[in-house]
Amino acid sequence: MKVTYICDCCGAIIGSLSLTEEELRQMGVDPRAAELDEAIIKSAPTGDLFIYSLCETCVDSMPVFEAE
Ligand SMILES: [Zn+2]
Repeated sequence: MKVTYICDCCGAIIGSLSLTEEELRQMGVDPRAAELDEAIIKSAPTGDLFIYSLCETCVDSMPVFEAE
């Protein structure tokens, strides 16, 4: 299963890798439950997964929120 990481902020592709369902589970991602967590993970009709994250550029340009 192809997993692509996309920046949720600018849409840049951060990276992609090929993982088995077992490897995904070990990462804490359940491919079958992907639709339940649409904010972060989207599944394409092809079965590929898109995981939304933030690229380094956006992380660097964001204000730092410090816990009080
Ligand atoms: Zn970005």
